[in-house]
Amino acid sequence: MKKKFIGANWKMNLLQAELEVLLLELSAISVKKEVLEFVIFPSQIYLSDCIKQSNLTFGAQDIHSENNGAFTGAVSAEQVKSAGAKFVLIGHSERRTIFQESNELIKAKVDAALNTSIELVFCCGESLDIRDKGTEKEWVSNQLKEGILHLSAEKIGTCIIAYEPVWAIGTGKVANTQQIEEMHTFIRETLIKKYGPDIALAVRIIYGGSCTPDNAKEIFTLNNVDGGLIGGASLNFESMSTLLNSF
Ligand code: PEP
Repeated sequence: MKKKFIGANWKMNLLQAELEVLLLELSAISVKKEVLEFVIFPSQIYLSDCIKQSNLTFGAQDIHSENNGAFTGAVSAEQVKSAGAKFVLIGHSERRTIFQESNELIKAKVDAALNTSIELVFCCGESLDIRDKGTEKEWVSNQLKEGILHLSAEKIGTCIIAYEPVWAIGTGKVANTQQIEEMHTFIRETLIKKYGPDIALAVRIIYGGSCTPDNAKEIFTLNNVDGGLIGGASLNFESMSTLLNSF
């Protein structure tokens, strides 16, 4: 059976002492590993410490597209892999907008992660402008086409796709269940057209955007929703444990 996936994206939050407390608390939760994969994405500077201190699974929030070289401040796929990270987020909307990452760069990062055997969470989603124009499916389709659909069937089958409408991230506005199910089904159909049903069904499609313990159950039981990427609520032990226990 395909496991559900929950990612905790801590972004640029938590100082070392705060992070250690939260990590200890989260490590004590008994996650049903047979049905749920739980991965924490801490700030890169603490990634290595987290991996040494805890038996949970960790990922990097970003990587550079090159493996090494003169790229001051950047971290490569090989480096996060050698630190023990199992996953990486690629194309998060904050990277796309604040750091102006193009689909072309994101595609190169997808390749860098897979060439290093790191599993990836490919993020996509439209802004409010696009949603208001009614062209959100074309937008997401293009992000997929230019960022990840070049992969072979074998490789795409290992990827996770996170649909995160930009207008719902960190805003407290959640996409409604119809909007979520419609887009997830559209992404699944896009994968089926390109790779056939067996491969397409293996890809986990998760939702991100103001998920909380109050709305999680409703969202995570929708058709074609295989879990979630959690930002704000993942910084609080009570919210995160309730969320994890909703599986
Ligand atoms: C995110 O950053 O991926 C996210 C979904 O954030 P939030 O849950 O805070 O909206």
